Amino acid sequence: TEKLLEVKGLKTYFFPSKNKVAKAVDDVSFTIHKGETVALVGESGSGKSVTSLSIMQLIPSPPGEIIEGSIKLEGKELLTLTTKEMNNVRGKDIGMIFQEPMTSLDPVFTIGSQLIESIRKHKKTSKKEAHNIGVNLLKMVGFSRAEEMMKEYPHQLSGGMRQRVMIAIAMACEPKLLIADEPTTALDVTIQAQILDVMKDMKEKFGSSVLLITHDMGVVAEVADRVLVMYGGQIVEEAPMRKIFKETKHPYTKGLLASIPDIDKDVDRLDAIAGTVPPAHAFPDGCRFRDRCPFAMDICKRENPELLELEDGHYVRCHLYEGGHDDA
Ligand code: SF4
Ligand code: MG
Repeated sequence: TEKLLEVKGLKTYFFPSKNKVAKAVDDVSFTIHKGETVALVGESGSGKSVTSLSIMQLIPSPPGEIIEGSIKLEGKELLTLTTKEMNNVRGKDIGMIFQEPMTSLDPVFTIGSQLIESIRKHKKTSKKEAHNIGVNLLKMVGFSRAEEMMKEYPHQLSGGMRQRVMIAIAMACEPKLLIADEPTTALDVTIQAQILDVMKDMKEKFGSSVLLITHDMGVVAEVADRVLVMYGGQIVEEAPMRKIFKETKHPYTKGLLASIPDIDKDVDRLDAIAGTVPPAHAFPDGCRFRDRCPFAMDICKRENPELLELEDGHYVRCHLYEGGHDDA
C-alpha cells in the first residue's frame, strides 16, 4: 500500500540548561501507510508526545529543537516548510485530537460556531453550507440532536461528548492523517469504547490514516493495525498488532502487556515493570531499559542495541535477539 507519512532519523532534543541535553526523541524512523492505524505506545516520558508534536511542528523552541531528520507527507518534506505553509498542513492535511480536558474547545463560543469556523478555514463555503456540513459531522459522531447541539456551549456537554465534538472538528477538513494523543485517557471505560468506535467510523468514512498515541495496550488491541513501542526516546519494538500481542519480543513490551490482565493467555507474562522511564537527560549507557530489565546481561551495560528486523515487519531493539535467536 501507499505511504502517507515517512519519518526518518528524527531527533528532537531539549536543552533545559547549559550542558544539559534531553534526547526526548532520538533517531526515530517509521512509516504510516494510507488508511492505516498505527499505535505509538509507551509510558509517559517515553517520547511519544514529543514525536507527535514534532510531526506537527509544535515543539516549544526554545528549549526544544528538531535537530535532525526528515518528515514527509505524501513525499513532501514538512521540516522545510514556512510557518505559513505548515499552518496550512495542520488542520487541513493533519488533524489532531488531544486528551480531554486539553482539547481546545473555546468556552465562550457555541459548538456550531467553532465547527463552522474550522470548516471555513480550509474550505471555501458559505456560512449556511458550513452549518450544514457541521450538522452532518455531528450526526456522524453520534449526535442525533445535531441541530440543537450546534447551539450548545462546551460546558453544557460531558467529557465524552466534548471529545466527540473534537473528532468532528478534526475531521471537518477531511485530514489525510489524524493524530490522536491519549484521546480516551481521561474518560471512563464505557465512554472510551464509544470514542474509539467513533474514531474507527470516521477513519473509514474519510479514508484517513491514524497515528494513535497511548499508554494503554487495551486501546491498542481495539484499533491498531501496527504498533510502535517506544522507550527512552527510541522505538524498541515494531510489529503488526497481532504479533505484538502473540509474538512479543522486547522485555519492555512484555512488561506493558503484563499491565493489562487477561488480554491473551498465550503471552508469556512478566510482572508489571518496576521503576519508571529515566529522564531524557540521564539515560544509562548501553540499553536504556537495562535498569528495569529482568534479562539484562553484561553487554547491555555497554552497548545500546540496534533496531533489527527479526522477520518481515517485526523489529526489535534488544541484545537477546541479535543473531536471530530467541532467548527470552
Ligand atoms: Fe534487557 Fe539487554 Fe534487551 Fe535491554 S538489551 S531489553 S537490558 S536484555
Ligand atoms: Mg503524552
